[in-house]
Amino acid sequence: MQTVERWLSMAGTANRAPGHPEANGASPPRPLHPFVAEAGDLVALTLETGQPERFLWIDEKGVADNIGARTGNPREYRKHNLWIPPSVGWSTLDARAQCLVADVLVMLNLIERDGHPDEVEERMIRAEQPGTSSLPPCIRSDRRPLRPDLRAGMADPPAPGTTCPPDCKFQLCPYPPRGCVPRGEIREPFCRQQQALLPGRVRRCLPRGLRRKTPHWVSMRVRELDGFWQQMAGRTRS
Ligand SMILES: [Zn+2]
Repeated sequence: MQTVERWLSMAGTANRAPGHPEANGASPPRPLHPFVAEAGDLVALTLETGQPERFLWIDEKGVADNIGARTGNPREYRKHNLWIPPSVGWSTLDARAQCLVADVLVMLNLIERDGHPDEVEERMIRAEQPGTSSLPPCIRSDRRPLRPDLRAGMADPPAPGTTCPPDCKFQLCPYPPRGCVPRGEIREPFCRQQQALLPGRVRRCLPRGLRRKTPHWVSMRVRELDGFWQQMAGRTRS
């Protein structure tokens, strides 16, 4: 826990300019971004269990695109000399890690969209709102402004911020319409798994400490989050 806390105290400081009060760690620690806090917990669980493939991943897109082999083959670890063999997909991940990967992917797609570098940079800055709860209301409390059902029409895709609530500082909604995230589209099985993870639908018994409700960064009804992933699952159908 001490090791992980030390790492968390450094999180985000590498990008601060040298003159910035947070650059040398002199200022009081900022509240952690909820995704970073969750990743910290998962790293602690990794160190505790010695099973990195359950709590960590190499690439969000890669792990969400693949269900993966159900059991890790120790030979494969040795062959690749890696902590996590490349055959691992989301089915190997713990439920908490699956939830984090999913919402990180949603945020990445909101920020990166078609990938034009200047615009990505601007949106990245908007996504790092200091002093706020650090996640847009459209991720945290009401996902309707994301409009995951939108299709790319004849006109240009709607500009980021078009469907955000008026007081939203993040200005990232709607989620890029269908056809506007060709590489980044989250595949249907992974969306269905997000629905399956929601309380009331989980049938298997998880060990203490790994039992989940909705992710702690989310404050909305289970039914609303279920509806969001239902729409996301339908996007990749014709
Ligand atoms: Zn929004």
